[in-house]
Parts: sequence; C-alpha cells; structure tokens
Amino acid sequence: MSTSQTRPVTAGTLADVVDVLAGRRLTVLTGAGVSTDSGIPDYRGPDSPPRTPMTYQQFVGDPAFRRHYWARNHVGWRHVHRTHPNAGHRALAELEARGVVVGIITQNVDLLHEAAGSRNVIDLHGRYDRVVCLRCRTVVSRAALAERLEALNPGFVERVGGVVGDVEIAPDADAVIEQTADFVVQACWAPDPDGGGPCGGMLKPDIVYFGENVPRERVDRAYAMVDAADALLVAGSSLSVQSGLRFVRHAAQSDKPVVIVNRGETRGDRHATVTLHAGTSETLTTLAAELPTPAPT
Ligand SMILES: [Zn+2]
Repeated sequence: MSTSQTRPVTAGTLADVVDVLAGRRLTVLTGAGVSTDSGIPDYRGPDSPPRTPMTYQQFVGDPAFRRHYWARNHVGWRHVHRTHPNAGHRALAELEARGVVVGIITQNVDLLHEAAGSRNVIDLHGRYDRVVCLRCRTVVSRAALAERLEALNPGFVERVGGVVGDVEIAPDADAVIEQTADFVVQACWAPDPDGGGPCGGMLKPDIVYFGENVPRERVDRAYAMVDAADALLVAGSSLSVQSGLRFVRHAAQSDKPVVIVNRGETRGDRHATVTLHAGTSETLTTLAAELPTPAPT
C-alpha cells in the first residue's frame, strides 16, 4: 500500500524545508504565486477577488464572447510582454545551473522562467506568445497576430488601453475593457490545407483553458521529469486544478518527498511531507543560498 494515503499534513518551517530537500535533486512545479512579484496577479490566491475563469466552450461557442476576449487580449498581452523575472525565478535558474533543480513544470504562461535563464522548462498550460488555429493547427507568434489586429483595428489600443488605470491585468493577459463591440477579429491566414486561399479557421491563444486538456505528450514529459528527480517542490500553486495536482499525487505514490511552498492551503497538502505558508521569492532565494549541490549518482 502506498504511504501517500497516510502522510500527515505537516506545517513546517523554512528549516524543515531545507532539511527535507538538502542533497536531493528536485523537480519544481510552479504556479501563479511565483509570478505575483513580477506584477502578474494570482486570481486564485487567498487575497484574490472572485473571478470566473473563461472556459474553452465559451471561447469556441460564442462569437461575441470571442470578439470581446480578443479585444481585451489585444490590449492585455502587451503587459505580460513587458514583465520581468523576479528573485524567485532567478533562484530557480541558479539552482538548475548548480544541478539541484532537474527541471521546472510551470502552470504559468508568462515565460518568466525562460527569461530568468531556466533551460529545462515544461510550459504545462501553454505560452502567451503563441496562437494556434483550431482548424489547421498552424501555430503563429502572438506578435504576428498583433500586427494584423492593429491593421484591422487602427487606434484601438490607444483609444481604450492608453490609460493604465482602465486596464485590469489577468494571468492569461486579459484586460478588462468595456468598448469592444466594434472590434474586428482576425481569422487564420495560413494557406487553406484544402487549397484556394487562406484557411480562415478560428484562432485561439496557445494556452490551455478550463474545459480543455493538456496535450498528452506534454503530460507524459512532465511525469518523466518528476520521475527523474528525488523530490518534488511545489512553489506558488494552490493546486486547484487537476492538471497540476496529478504530479503531486504521482510523486507521493512514488514515495518521493513533496514540499509545498504557498501562501495558504492547497489541495495537495495531504500528500506533502512539509508545507510552508510563505512567499516564493524569499523562500526560493533562501533555498538557492542553502541547498547544496547533490552528489553525483
Ligand atoms: Zn488555419
């Protein structure tokens, strides 16, 4: 019988976390809490306003919703584009360079781990800088789409997005705007796979939304990354969605220590060896200073 069913929830100290992780090679699962210090709000954090996340079904099922979404995204994605990694991202990159961290599985779409210098990163929920056609599956850069949306909607960003106070930024690059009724959406402009002009398919940010599954190949790579490490460190995620929680279960069932650092409780706490209610920037910075490089196996 797996011990994962019987692990007590252990609210620990930073010293406990260092004790459990010292000498081990870590895979790290990160969530929105890691990016809050970069100015990207965590809408599922303990102090967050209630918010109903957009679902995949809403996006594909309702043209008006889709127009509203793209109008907001047209303004909001630029904010993510301007954000910078914080001390937590930098600490994880340093730990990877030293051979402590094997790799990162992130639920964030902001690419800040990559910007900080982390190399082995699985963007579990996709990335904000890409767009995919739901008909022909062509992937294009968000920047290329931005040029087209500018041409279709001249002056839109200046008109409604110029005042920072009017724009509320969400983790998926939403920005709340009222005036979107006249926004013109761009269809896929890749060559039609059946010939005769552009594809015309529906474009969607290359991000996994509620109601949508993470691609199987990506899930398998993430399981393999957990298997390649001696322990799993969760940083800044409440593990409220199954897409991340399953890796915690997997590590616990493999009898690997699980450490969860998050402000507030998480759905994975009962699988944890130690939980620490703390911010990730300061905690990861301390871990980078204190965790020794594991001996070669
Ligand atoms: Zn297409």
